[in-house]
Amino acid sequence: MKKSLSSRNKISDPWKLTYHNFSEKEEGLRETLCALGNGVFSSRGAAPESSADDIHYPGTYLAGGFNKIPTRISGKNIYNEDLVNFPNWLCFSFRIGKNDWFYPAEKNIISFKQVMDFKKGVLSRVLRVKDAEGRITKIQGERFVSMADEHIAGLRYVITPENYSGSVTVRSGLDGGVLNYGVKRYRDLESQHLVPQSVGADGPSIYLTSKTSQSAIVVGYAAILSLEGKKIVPRVVRDGKKAVCHECSVKMMQKQSYVFTKMVSMYSTQNDSTRQPRMVALQSVKSAHSYTVARSAHIKAWRDIWKKYDIVIEGDVFSQLAIRLHTYHLLQTASPHTTTRDAGMPARGLTGEAYRGHIFWDDLFIMPFFDMRSPDITKGLLRYRSSRLGEARKYAKRNGYKGSMYPWQSGSKGVEETQVIHLNPLSGKWDPDFSCIQRHVSFSIAYNFWNYWWHTRDDQFLIEEGAEAILSVAHFASSLVFFNKKDKKYHSKGLMGPDEFHEMNSNYPKEHGLRNNAYTNFLISWVLNRALEVVDILPEADSQRLLKLLMLTEKDLATWATIASSMKVLTNKEGIISQFEGYFGLRELDWAAYRKKYDNIHRMDRILKAEGKTPDSYKVAKQADALQLFYLFPLDEIKELFGSLGLKFTKSLLKKNYDYYVKRTSHGSTLSKVVHCYIAHVLGRENEAWDWYQEVLRSDVLDTQGGTTREGIHTGVMASSVMIALRAFAGLELHRDCITFTPKLPNKWKKMKFFFTFQGTDFDCEVSKKRICIKMKGSKNKVYPFPIIVNKRSYLLAMGTTHSIGL
Ligand code: BGC
Repeated sequence: MKKSLSSRNKISDPWKLTYHNFSEKEEGLRETLCALGNGVFSSRGAAPESSADDIHYPGTYLAGGFNKIPTRISGKNIYNEDLVNFPNWLCFSFRIGKNDWFYPAEKNIISFKQVMDFKKGVLSRVLRVKDAEGRITKIQGERFVSMADEHIAGLRYVITPENYSGSVTVRSGLDGGVLNYGVKRYRDLESQHLVPQSVGADGPSIYLTSKTSQSAIVVGYAAILSLEGKKIVPRVVRDGKKAVCHECSVKMMQKQSYVFTKMVSMYSTQNDSTRQPRMVALQSVKSAHSYTVARSAHIKAWRDIWKKYDIVIEGDVFSQLAIRLHTYHLLQTASPHTTTRDAGMPARGLTGEAYRGHIFWDDLFIMPFFDMRSPDITKGLLRYRSSRLGEARKYAKRNGYKGSMYPWQSGSKGVEETQVIHLNPLSGKWDPDFSCIQRHVSFSIAYNFWNYWWHTRDDQFLIEEGAEAILSVAHFASSLVFFNKKDKKYHSKGLMGPDEFHEMNSNYPKEHGLRNNAYTNFLISWVLNRALEVVDILPEADSQRLLKLLMLTEKDLATWATIASSMKVLTNKEGIISQFEGYFGLRELDWAAYRKKYDNIHRMDRILKAEGKTPDSYKVAKQADALQLFYLFPLDEIKELFGSLGLKFTKSLLKKNYDYYVKRTSHGSTLSKVVHCYIAHVLGRENEAWDWYQEVLRSDVLDTQGGTTREGIHTGVMASSVMIALRAFAGLELHRDCITFTPKLPNKWKKMKFFFTFQGTDFDCEVSKKRICIKMKGSKNKVYPFPIIVNKRSYLLAMGTTHSIGL
């Protein structure tokens, strides 16, 4: 049965994700979707009364907060670097008399409503709970992680005894006794990353410090508990060096409400220039504004962000909600506060521990989302890469390549963090993991640097950081290939494309990886051409300096040009691109039989391996691979890229390839649906594109992969859903020297309103079925230098005037 937002959860306000019941089964998913963060730290939307168990998981994560420890498996030390689950600051509960502390479970909750308000970045809850003696307590609560002050969080907890009076004790704590326990499959691995340092009290505050065992990140938390309208002097209760809390007993009267607030401050040696996180946290929490003032500042900061990021969609409340959910999550993973921090964009956000918080090629789907609204955030994320260029250089050298090769999974240092074995939950076996040979990750990084430059024309950043990254990656690309005398083409080997099911080719049993993955080969050509262009764009003195620094000669550049025009791309007689050399010789999978046998065939690799087979033998892709290229560039650039390789690109070729591969892909990655959606749109198959789009929008909010979202959001699919709305439906395509619009709103959508910025000029835009209104706002230029092309007709925009163009 297809999942949908149930009628109980009908969308009445597309700024809010609302749950009307408490569900133990769904709690993990909701915690992810209701996470609160500010780009520096983030906490899952877990109940404040809960601790980690099979239902609840109150994880807190820091941007760039990694730690690496070994686990002994089969006599070997296996090292894993994890995004650490830092101490839990949410802890808050109450008890009546000497009863147990309230702990949320279906059996003791009479009614429940939880609202995640994206506009405000506030998570609120109201629930009525009943104890064994029939005493009913109403709890109203909310919390925020401040977008105004990235060190502050606040929690409000209102207790109303409905049918009793008596002594009620509240407990407000900081808990450092936490593990990385969020992903079941990782539980055999070492999970103790924190070494407790100290807990205690200082005046009205409690504090806690903790340190990661290997990376030595020290975090300091401080918290103050208050009761509105009454002065309280809470007791301090310590649990060794691990946890501390304030406890306070209050005589409560039936039907009266008692409003507690908890203000928290958090500093770390990772993200803040301090060696004394405890001291600064204590100072900051003492001088923090009251809950109400801090909350207002936080909401205002979000309001400013939404001015640039909100896409208003009229006519379709579900799309509207999902797009806001996605936008909200991306911005709390990387926000204006992240720009000054050394942090990349984890594929699963700061909301869970899947993929250990690592940073992959998913940036390629995500950066355009920031490029178009606040490219400073992109620049911050790119700096995460440029500052790890040295490691990438060493990685290339260790593998016998030149230039810089970025790791497939990156964490704190920029070294390869891909695990060497992974658990197949279907077979219970640890299988080897070869996915690190996805060398295309380096090309995606060059793509991001390049895009940032032409979106912003930030020449200084290109000169200082971008050009070196692009040239170093190009140098690597040129060393990855070899010349084949027979066909006089450059070939590649020993690598994987985005489709992770294919790790080797049986024609070359001694070789890990594949030969001539088409996507990688296309990108090699693209990256070499861009690098040559960068050399031309840079001022002469800078290009000379850089070539010298990277020890590149004119001869190298000439070789790059040759390689760029002679990469091998294999196709069959019908023009179907061979995903890699030997692909067409593989066996067809009996898709119908597998669909019948298994409810969910997304992970065909696990199914086949558990059956003692290997996906290497079959035409079965995890995700778009041969098709991936067509998501990255507008058609004119694809034509140019094909042309530079002596190939002819036509839409009918794209159609054939789409029809061929869509039948052979199991979409084991959410990124796959994004690519298929966009291509279906390019092919003019609007109904098909819409069906894909629904899947894209549903993937996290309804956890359509059946359990992955509880382990963390999927930032790639989230960003792409927004980009598809802009690129496909509003039809906005940015080119280096013009902006084009070919809008095609989905049937249900009546209107879209959005903001974007391009090369220093800001635009407000409204697209309906009949017209498009564009207003050029802040810009140094009176007239936008490039034409805006709407359905192939050119317009020059004047500053400050709204141009209304009929479609
Ligand atoms: C996909 C990769 C992706 C990673 C992180 C994997 O399942 O196959 O393409 O980079 O997830 O999102």
